[in-house]
Amino acid sequence: MSEQHEGGTHDVVDPSTGVAFTTVEMAGTAAVDAAVERAAAAFPAWRDVAPADRARLLRRVAAAVDADLDHLADLEVREAGHPTANARWEAGNLRDVLEYSAAAVERHLGDQIPVAGGIDVTFHEPLGVVGVITPWNFPMPIAGWSVGPALAAGNTVVLKPAELTPLTSLRFAELAREAGLPEGVLQVLPGRGDVAGQRLVEHPAVRKLVFTGSTAVGRGVMAGAARHVKRVTLELGGKSANIVFADSDLERAAATAPDGVFDNAGQDCCARSRILVQRSVHDRFLELLEPAVKGVRVADPRSPDAQMGPLISAAQRERVAGFLTEESLGASAEVAFTGTAPEGAGFWFRPTVVLAPDPRVRVATEEVFGPVVTVTPFDDEADAVRIANDSRYGLSGSIWTRDLGRALRVSRAVEAGNLSVNSHSSVRYGTPFGGVKESGLGRELGPHALDAFTDVKNVFISTT
Ligand code: NAD
Repeated sequence: MSEQHEGGTHDVVDPSTGVAFTTVEMAGTAAVDAAVERAAAAFPAWRDVAPADRARLLRRVAAAVDADLDHLADLEVREAGHPTANARWEAGNLRDVLEYSAAAVERHLGDQIPVAGGIDVTFHEPLGVVGVITPWNFPMPIAGWSVGPALAAGNTVVLKPAELTPLTSLRFAELAREAGLPEGVLQVLPGRGDVAGQRLVEHPAVRKLVFTGSTAVGRGVMAGAARHVKRVTLELGGKSANIVFADSDLERAAATAPDGVFDNAGQDCCARSRILVQRSVHDRFLELLEPAVKGVRVADPRSPDAQMGPLISAAQRERVAGFLTEESLGASAEVAFTGTAPEGAGFWFRPTVVLAPDPRVRVATEEVFGPVVTVTPFDDEADAVRIANDSRYGLSGSIWTRDLGRALRVSRAVEAGNLSVNSHSSVRYGTPFGGVKESGLGRELGPHALDAFTDVKNVFISTT
């Protein structure tokens, strides 16, 4: 068996039809070892590329992504079922992160620190080989968030995409090679998590891991990384709150709540899947929410007006449905209303709103990762913050109020890495992104993205 074939193959399925349309070879441990060796061999020369030249190369890769944008978006539509407009945004985000990273290469400044007897300076040293493990929900942007800054900082990268969605990452590696990125600097290896992913975690020459995925697997990645004291960035699950105060623009809060949770069919780590509404406006909010949810256009992702596509797989659809059984909902929670979805082939699921007066029920505490949102009343600001923080997760969230002081107080009080006021914005390539508590460790994106891919070296030079 060749090195490339020892991990078997995987049939990539179009989630909107349920039909497999291509087969991808999966890397086994020997293929991962060989890739890591190539990446380690490529590292010294890549580290030594002059910053301006490294930046120029990354800009070329960004331009290649831009020129291939429609094709990349099409791959994302096919393998992940994302509506075309979303997929185009995702390919554009990959391009933008590469450009932003390229601009950071020559601005990654060290310190000059006042000391006695000489001068003291710090350097940001690249780490070596970086292993990147990505999930299936946003394969293209999430790959870019690591690959851009890791390469910009002078590291080489081995990327393992999720089993279900390898195609955009494979195409990205191809584009990078064609744009002139040297051999071994960026390699993409589709493979099983417990085989290829696990090997990246264990391989002693991988000096840093960026893992995006479930909290359960992330915990194992962190434990595995401890053996060789590898640096880790973990982007994990979420159960974010959308807090709606009585003094907010209630019409807007209700009209936009579906965007905050049903984007990517709710398969979004930042999904605001718990709506907390002040009790005095709870019923009115639900009246406004119902038409907004019923108006979400769930359709073939290729149709130009689709707002939401299918779930990623039959298994995911079954998982999501499992949260809505009578047994799972318990005595207090109930489905209030649903939107619509196509019938027939494909992994479709209707946007679903659940009344959860008790915020401790399963559907309101566990990450559903599907188009299901709970609505829970609260009494006052302190109550809202208490319920929002009563979670092992802390990734994202929204606060709707017209009171600026309250917006700031609640923003500081909610335990989450990314909050938005009177909006549902989480991800911008220029601002930091990441979670607290069991939602993760470290930050990606933003002005300091390269710090996570370097160690600080301090050098004292005696002048005596
Ligand atoms: P997952 O944890 O099942 O898989 C993620 C990746 O890890 C895949 O590439 C998988 O092959 C790999 N993997 C699985 N087992 C492994 C192992 N033992 N060792 C090494 N790698 C292994 O997650 P998923 O189902 O693909 O993605 C959904 C989850 O990702 C959700 O919980 C979601 O919230 C989270 N997520 C978080 C962010 C964020 O930025 N915080 C972004 C997107 C998704």
